[in-house]
This record gives sequence, C-alpha cells and structure tokens, in this order.
Amino acid sequence: MADIRPLSEILSAMTSKEAADVSMISKAYEFSRDAHKDQTRYSGEPYFLHPAEVGFTLAEIGMDAETIAAGLLHDSMEDAGVSAATIEKEFGQEVLFLVRGVTKLGALRYRGLERHTESLRRLFAATAEDIRVLIIKLMDRLHNVTTLEHVPEHKRKRIALETLEIYAPIADRFGMSVAKTALEDAAFPYAYPEDYEKTRELLKERTKETEKRLEKAEKDLKRALAESGIREFRTESRMKGMYSLFRKLDRKDWEMGKIFDILALRIIVPTVADCYSVLGVVHKQWRPVPGKIKDYIAFPKPNGYQSIHTTVYTGDGGALEIQIRTESMHREAQYGIASHLTYKEALGYVEGSRGGSLEWIKQFIPGRRKKLPETIPEQSGHTAPDWVQELAHAHEQEGRSGEYLENLKTDFFSHRIFVFTPKGDVIDLPLAATPIDFAYAIHSEIANKMAGARVNGKMASLDSILRNGDMVEIITKSSARPSRKWQDIAKTTLAKKMIRAALAAQKQS
Ligand code: MN
Repeated sequence: MADIRPLSEILSAMTSKEAADVSMISKAYEFSRDAHKDQTRYSGEPYFLHPAEVGFTLAEIGMDAETIAAGLLHDSMEDAGVSAATIEKEFGQEVLFLVRGVTKLGALRYRGLERHTESLRRLFAATAEDIRVLIIKLMDRLHNVTTLEHVPEHKRKRIALETLEIYAPIADRFGMSVAKTALEDAAFPYAYPEDYEKTRELLKERTKETEKRLEKAEKDLKRALAESGIREFRTESRMKGMYSLFRKLDRKDWEMGKIFDILALRIIVPTVADCYSVLGVVHKQWRPVPGKIKDYIAFPKPNGYQSIHTTVYTGDGGALEIQIRTESMHREAQYGIASHLTYKEALGYVEGSRGGSLEWIKQFIPGRRKKLPETIPEQSGHTAPDWVQELAHAHEQEGRSGEYLENLKTDFFSHRIFVFTPKGDVIDLPLAATPIDFAYAIHSEIANKMAGARVNGKMASLDSILRNGDMVEIITKSSARPSRKWQDIAKTTLAKKMIRAALAAQKQS
C-alpha cells in the first residue's frame, strides 16, 4: 500500500513560500481529506491518496497555489458531493473555476460515449479560458494511469487507449515531454500488451551494451570539452520511453540496429553560444552521421522545443545521439507550457527572439493575454489559440460523439501545421495551408494587398503548400488585389470569407 503524501512534502515542493499560499494549501489538504474520508480507491486504499498525489505533482512542476489547491480539491465536487458554493466560500472564485473545469458531467444527461465526449468538450471549453485546467487534468490522468493495475479489467483498456490517443498527444502539443512520456509508458502495457512485451524483451537485450557505450562516450566527451576550455556544463543521459521506442520500432521493421536514440547523451550549458561551441567539440571528437544534425535552436519545433541534436559514430561500431541545450531550454523541454506559467522570466527570454516560438503560449496565461490580430473577430477576448477553441465548439457542427472523438484524434493533433512570421510569432494553420491562408490569419489588410510571398527566404507561389516550421513573409504592393483564384487556393474558412468580402467590395466600387 502506498502512503498518503504528507502535507509537508507538498508545501516544500511548492515554489511559493508566502504565508497566504501556505495556509490555502494546508486548508485545501485538510478539506479534501475530510471530504473523501469515507471513500476508497479500487485498490482499497483511502481515496484521498489520489488528490494528494495530484496536488503534489502540480507543486513539483512549479504551479501556483490556486492550481495546487484545485488539484487537491479536483474530485471533491464530483465524487464527494461538495457544493460549488462551499468551494467558492472557502477557496474563492478562481479555485472554483479550476475545480469545475476538471469536474466531469453529472450522471443524468449523458451516457456512454456521448457522456465521455461531452466531458472532453467541457474540458476544452474550460481550457480555452484557462490553461491551468488542462494541466490539472493531465496530472489527474497521470496518477490514474499509473495505478491502472487496480482498475477493473473492462475499464482498463479504454482508459489506457484514451490516454495514448488523447491525453499524451495533448501533453506533447504543450511541450510537456515528461508528462507525455509518463502517460504513454504507464498506458502502453494495458493498451497493447503483446507489443509491450515484445518491446521490453528487445530493449532488455540492448540496454546493458548501450549503457556501457554511453558511459565511455560521456567520459571521452567530458575530457574533450575540458580540453577545449568549456568548463561550465553538465551531462545527463536520457532513456527513450518504451512506447515511443515501440512506435519507432514499428516504423523500422523491428530492427533495433536502426534506432540510434534509445539512449541519448545530453549536454546542458549556460548560453546559446555555448551550445554551438559544444557542437563543434562533439563533431571534432566524433564523425557525425550525415543528415542527422538538427538545429532546433534556430528552428524550434512547433511545440516550442529547442535543442541541437546530432548523431555521431563513437568509434566502437555504434552511433550515439547527442542533445545540446541551455538550462532554460532544458526546463522548457521537460515541462513545456507549465514552465511558462510560473517561470515568468522565461517569457522575457522568448520575447522578440527567433526562439519566440512559444509566443503563442502567452495567450493562455492569465493576466498576460497577448493581443491577437484584430481581423479575427471570433478570437477577440479569448485566451486560447484556434485549435483549442475548435475543440470546444466542434460539437456545434457535428452531432455524433464517435465523430467528434475521431476528429479529436486525427485532425487536431496531426493535421495542423505551425508556421512562423519573420518576427517569430507562430501561426496555427490546417495541413496544406498556403501563403494566402497565412496572410489572412495575420491581417486582412495585409492579405488584400499581397503581391507575393517568401517562404524560408525564397520566393514562393501563392498556392504553394506550407510546411511545419516554415518562416513566411508576405510581400505587399498597394496596387495588388485579391483575385477569384485565391478563393480556390485558400484552405481556411477565414481566408475564403475575407476574400469573398474583398471581391464583393471591389465589385461595388
Ligand atoms: Mn481524479
């Protein structure tokens, strides 16, 4: 039996040491323990074990006191019958909003799949207003999925699959790689038991050998770095998650030899300039594998991830992946959006730089709402980007729950691209979007005067298909006008609508 996480551990994990925060958390802890005192988990353990663990995890990833309190209280309305009025009276409106956001629906109105998808819709609607709701939900799911062994078998598989198909991709989308890997690896054995066993066997054979090579490489590298005068650095190794290894094996005909990043060596240094110096030392020491050098510092991943990756031949017949990054990139890579909710200086760090790929995240942060382009009226006043809004409203077009869930799995996570403005702002577009869609997503006045576009510095036709990570610059001319052809090229409803309006206006004048 697991022990209930003591209050003292939650308090010492919490970033804030302010008296008001400490007293709110202490109160929420006792309140929740009391509310759940007659309940048990499937394992037979006291129910309070669960909210206490969720509260602790939230403290550990650096969330604020309101979020930790809401984590402690997150099941008190749904499972212990505490009223909204009581939560509001004891803990205030903000905590109530967060708790409500993660509370599933009452049993009466919906059933089965419909009830389930309706809960998801509500979650996204609340998330669109405040991203902290989603972070609590992810940590709730994380604890539930790590205790799946106790859940009745018929429920287990559904929860595991849903974790892999919905919650892990969400964590990934928000750059929370630690949560993503933990969710995946906890769900994997229950979702696909045979593949899990197969992967585990293959990994077991390889691990010892890989570990030895890593140890030697680490020693050689430390010496090379010291000889080059690089003193301030630390290294760590990271093991690829089992589920992510399985996905890769599946793509590579189950040949372990084709996978170079089972174990990777990370080098963490103080500045961006240091990252490139270290890359130089690494490549001088070992021959890089052609085509495997990826500069995610200059070109961050759509979820904001930054690092330099390179794979090198280590001279013992094998290859090793090396990841180079700064401390702040490291923190961001692990906790993603959560690191931005507490580490405010990280916001200053991204501001105005090409590494500003996390600009869009600011839209989520209460009190730091970034003004969106005025041309998109549907968005004004909201705090989430399009795709979260779409998740929240998708049911207005579709009737069936199955469809909604299907769309959720496919469209929103794999069928979106993220392209950059020259200033580093991220524009979120559907797959196969064109420079025309990009231009209208920025501003209709710019788009209506568009004469051409540069993609990654090169002239591109207006019907070219944009790809993830492209940097797009719109060239305007005062004599330029939208044409009928644009309507056919455009993929987004927004662009089509704006073009139609501009064409109608031209006709009139
Ligand atoms: Mn829960």
